[in-house]
Amino acid sequence: MSKTLQAIRGMNDILPEQTPLWRYFEGTVAGLLDGYGYRQIRMPIVEFTDLFKRSIGEVTDIVEKEMYTFEDRNGDSLTLRPEGTAACVRAVLEHGLSGGGQVQKLWYMGPMFRHERPQKGRYRQFHQIGLEVFNLDGPDIDAELIVLTWRLWKLLGIRDAVTLELNSLGTSEARGRYREALVEFLTAHLDQIDEDSQRRLKTNPLRVLDTKHPETQAVLGNAPKLADYLDEESRVHFEGLKARLDAAGIPYVINPKLVRGLDYYSKTVFEWVTDKLGAQGTVCAGGRYDGLVEQMGGKPTPGVGFAMGIERLILLLETLEQVPESIARQVDIYLCAFGEQAELAGLTLAERLRDQVPGLRLMVNAGAGSFKSQFKKADKSGALYALILGDDELAQQVVGFKPLRGQGEQQNIAWSALADHLATCVVQG
Ligand code: ATP
Ligand code: MG
Repeated sequence: MSKTLQAIRGMNDILPEQTPLWRYFEGTVAGLLDGYGYRQIRMPIVEFTDLFKRSIGEVTDIVEKEMYTFEDRNGDSLTLRPEGTAACVRAVLEHGLSGGGQVQKLWYMGPMFRHERPQKGRYRQFHQIGLEVFNLDGPDIDAELIVLTWRLWKLLGIRDAVTLELNSLGTSEARGRYREALVEFLTAHLDQIDEDSQRRLKTNPLRVLDTKHPETQAVLGNAPKLADYLDEESRVHFEGLKARLDAAGIPYVINPKLVRGLDYYSKTVFEWVTDKLGAQGTVCAGGRYDGLVEQMGGKPTPGVGFAMGIERLILLLETLEQVPESIARQVDIYLCAFGEQAELAGLTLAERLRDQVPGLRLMVNAGAGSFKSQFKKADKSGALYALILGDDELAQQVVGFKPLRGQGEQQNIAWSALADHLATCVVQG
């Protein structure tokens, strides 16, 4: 018996029933970003492994245990990208896009790969839309990133279901001072924290703040607070951001434990979270990474960005039933032709209609068939109307125009009048 072929666990097909919703989502985001002057960049899906080690940091979950890394035929170590920022910074540096202090407002979209435990909202191939802005260091641009996501949630009808969590990590110096204090505190309470946190204490102590372990969380209640170690510059920056969010009427919650999984953040970090999806509740996350470009070999260049998880946002749209009805229908008109002459006429008529009615979604019956079978296919296509071409219609240069969803009687329409008729009842309707 032959073995059934299967996709890799955690890597999903997005089937034709689902792609309309994906395209609606992606199209909505792309339109929104056009409206704010962001430009799309497309990077390769594979990069040298070193790129991610250098940018994300050796002692992060991603680099330690989640990357899909392999050797290619040249013996180079390559990795399927686990996130987009590293490759975006690499591309910006390689092509000199941030030279001379040029401002860049970029976005990208596509698959990311992490070897995580697959579950609802967490996959091994998943998709992100990411934004990165270079050479702007003020809180105004941090605010813009949040303002535009706030607008997106409204466009998508999910604004009430998401909450903004904010924190400031300070400069790397301030964080360094805090790290020392935290390590000192946790070392004194070593026997009360879980094993994973004990390990992180040595490798990446700030990540301990992220722990889900209840006892460790209780210990952290008395730990030094990052906010008390913030440097003046970061404090002013954070106040500037909050003032702008207040002015824009965007509610937020300060979450002092928000440290983010990646190493490269500084100052602002934020997450949009929802309680509607169970455990995988973060739908969009990002922050400022002023040190990253330099860390990757460039000149000091402020940067700020975020990425949203498309699967989780699609799940949220479905959960909240915010899927617009109009996107489900992919065919407006189904053309049925009976007999060889009618088929030929149908082909040329259909092409002419496509010339004349921009945006028309017209499916022409293929594979001939009886009246009954063609109407069945017309109905199944989801079309609103069928066009019928047989010998009689051909002789009179008309088509039968048959509503399929109970909007009136069948009528004959002259070929010459058909384009105008379809334009009114389909494209606008
Ligand atoms: P999480 O805490 O959920 O693991 P993260 O901090 O690892 O998220 P980021 O690297 O900041 O996530 O990625 C940004 C967004 O991408 C997340 O907020 C989430 O919406 C989405 N995302 C991250 N990992 C996955 C995954 N394995 N499957 C689906 N979506 C994901
Ligand atoms: Mg993660």
